[in-house]
Amino acid sequence: MRFRAALAPVFWCFVCLATILGAEPSASGQELPAPEAWTALNAGDAGRAAGLFREAIERSPRDPILHFGAGWAAYALGRNDAAISSLKKALEFNADFAQAAALLGTVAYANSDLDLAIRSMEKAAALAPRDPGIRRQLEQWRKESTLHAGFDQRTGVRFRVLFEGAQQQALGVRVEQVLESAYWSIGKTLNSYPSDTLMVVLYTNKQFQDVTRAPAWAGGEFDGRIRLAVGGAMRTPGALDRVVRHELVHAIIQHAAPRNVPTWVNEGLASVLESTDRTWVRRVLSQTREIFPLEDLADGFAHLDGGEALVAYAESAVAAQILTERLGPNLGLFLQMLGSGHTVDQALGTLNVQPEGFYAEWRKRIGAK
Ligand SMILES: [Zn+2]
Repeated sequence: MRFRAALAPVFWCFVCLATILGAEPSASGQELPAPEAWTALNAGDAGRAAGLFREAIERSPRDPILHFGAGWAAYALGRNDAAISSLKKALEFNADFAQAAALLGTVAYANSDLDLAIRSMEKAAALAPRDPGIRRQLEQWRKESTLHAGFDQRTGVRFRVLFEGAQQQALGVRVEQVLESAYWSIGKTLNSYPSDTLMVVLYTNKQFQDVTRAPAWAGGEFDGRIRLAVGGAMRTPGALDRVVRHELVHAIIQHAAPRNVPTWVNEGLASVLESTDRTWVRRVLSQTREIFPLEDLADGFAHLDGGEALVAYAESAVAAQILTERLGPNLGLFLQMLGSGHTVDQALGTLNVQPEGFYAEWRKRIGAK
């Protein structure tokens, strides 16, 4: 049986729109226990799979494959702590379970626990020495670990900011201040207040590219921790503040809805809440000939080039602006509904916003025919 890869959401974000606007846009075939649970998982119904694995584990509490499945389902649901606990159990009942070790590494990484990620992936590599994917991943994480080991850090209650040396210290302080004040305002808008300490890493542009392998147009990333490229344009304080708030929105959305949030909702809200200056949206939309339908903007922007990505951000920002106007204090509830598996249309309908009216208004504002 084969399974679709359950990838952690990663958001690559523009650093400084003004700069970009000024420039040219550049398993195996064996019979598995609880087959209906695996079928549900493979069909993307992780909630149903989790329930079925739980029932099966009650009948066979020491079956490593069931704990592995439960861990996978929990990960797909964005419940990383539960996933880690299930995968550790899978390894407790079968210490040679390479896939469980590899998945534990992946979840630990998504949970910002790089040490556990590396330890688990080392175990997976020892059990499956010929797997090139495991080897590559391990190499990448070791590089990241070595890089971070040379960084200084400022540790607060909500944020741990890593930066390199004295020259970035002032930036580290500024980032921390922006995060602290934005935490409450964005948290209030989205009715979501993450309680875990969020890791934030400041990189040079080259380090950022090496660690994230993000598209060339990206200057910030959120993949469970916030990563910022702070060279060049990012040395402009306004641009830095903006991207810090932008990435924080992603972190707060992930807390409200760990999965199932279309990219246009996620990037749109981040673009709307990063700054009150949205003149770029109108400028981009007035210059573009190509408008992407929102349904084409649900699964990431990484395949777009810089110019296309900018249009995608602008369209998303318009949509998110309408969401904030129409949903008002229900915006947080809307996100929670998406996170629990509702579609955008279902969530809007439940919250008394007519989906047709929302899309018509969006088309009108972006100037689509
Ligand atoms: Zn973003």
